[in-house]
Amino acid sequence: MAIQSPEGTRDLLPDEALFWSHFKSCAEDVFGCYGYLPIDTPIIEQTELFVRGIGEATDVVSKEMFTAISGENLKKLLEGGSLKAKSRLSLRPEGTAGVVRAVVQHDLVPQGAAPAKLMYAGPMFRAERPQKGRQRQFNQIGVECLGAEEPTVDAEAIIMLMRFFVKMGIPQESMVLLVNSMGCEACRPAYRDQVRAYMNEHADELCETCMTRAELNPLRAFDCKNERCAAIMADAPKITDHLCDDCREHYEAVLKLLDGAGITYVQDPTLVRGLDYYTRTVFEVQVTDGLGSQNAIGGGGRYDKLAEEVGGRPTPGFGFALGYERCALALQAAGVEFPQAQQCDLFVACVDDSCRSQAFTLVQECRDAGYRCEMDHQHRSLKSQFKLADKLNARRVAILGPDELAEGRVKLRDMATHEEALVGLDEVLAELGQALL
Ligand code: AMP
Repeated sequence: MAIQSPEGTRDLLPDEALFWSHFKSCAEDVFGCYGYLPIDTPIIEQTELFVRGIGEATDVVSKEMFTAISGENLKKLLEGGSLKAKSRLSLRPEGTAGVVRAVVQHDLVPQGAAPAKLMYAGPMFRAERPQKGRQRQFNQIGVECLGAEEPTVDAEAIIMLMRFFVKMGIPQESMVLLVNSMGCEACRPAYRDQVRAYMNEHADELCETCMTRAELNPLRAFDCKNERCAAIMADAPKITDHLCDDCREHYEAVLKLLDGAGITYVQDPTLVRGLDYYTRTVFEVQVTDGLGSQNAIGGGGRYDKLAEEVGGRPTPGFGFALGYERCALALQAAGVEFPQAQQCDLFVACVDDSCRSQAFTLVQECRDAGYRCEMDHQHRSLKSQFKLADKLNARRVAILGPDELAEGRVKLRDMATHEEALVGLDEVLAELGQALL
């Protein structure tokens, strides 16, 4: 059997690969208006970065990371040796930790500087059980704003993401924006204790996984997919009732800014998200159509302690990531089609093989002038060259025949109107320019 792509991965074939490029460049346009500049960090990082940044007890780090190992190091391990920390590498499961590492490493936010606003796009890797909208390799576009803790940063990023989704064609009415505050290191520990105590009271009703989490990270139980656990956790103490004054003020300011921008949201005190680094604002955008249970198309929040976790100076931050593949499914559900990849300004057809070398030269000239041109490379008949021109959506076909070429002329056909005209071989470029204006 022919080798297949690995489980949980997808090929983006030309139509979709072009759409992904378009999607990224729209994000660059929209996010660029808000001051975000591109950054590209490695796909592999030291495992330690994710352990310290995302949190050892999270599913992402404890179960879902792919380890990257060289053949030589694998041999060393199999022979019972151990690896130095810098040789322990993982494929990135998300983008924030790498960007924050780069910000710290290159000192992109020196003391007193304006915030660094960075955006990235590319593949992430998680060894999850594949299903619709859940892959092992998927593409995210994300932004990170480091160096400011003002609620305006949180609000403008959320507003920007909602504007982007609408601009791409995801219907406003099919999206639900959930928001919450996770508090900070001043108010969260006491709240965490309360949740732990509540869970211990309900120990015999909660699943085993939740109870093992209760000790280390009880808030993870809010994410349990088990219906009984969800019902019990719905009555657990709410973080929003336990925020310190600073966190409450911050949260209320974010909500007020969203209100002012006309953004509709639902406050969800059980929204905790899967990564440990969040403080204060967290949010998630879900869609109601086309995605089933994996319905989150984007989300993020504030992470004011992450820079310190990875060894930098205190640098508040806010960011989000959106999942391209889930957005594509939501767009399909909304009836948005990928535009056809095949585009051709001119197809140069040959009546017989004697015209090929002039066809080859003409095609090069037109390409050099920036037109998308194609010719046949398989000695097809004229009829099947026209079929190919149709398949490529060619707007014009130049027909090169020995008789016309002897007079220095070619026939130029408009594929939409079927009109034909004889033009000089040296006039094709100018005609093409006129016609495609
Ligand atoms: P997260 O990094 O978990 O906050 O995820 C941000 C976004 O990435 C989610 O809202 C999804 O749209 C997308 N995403 C996360 N995990 C996957 C996955 N396994 N497959 C496809 N998309 C994903």
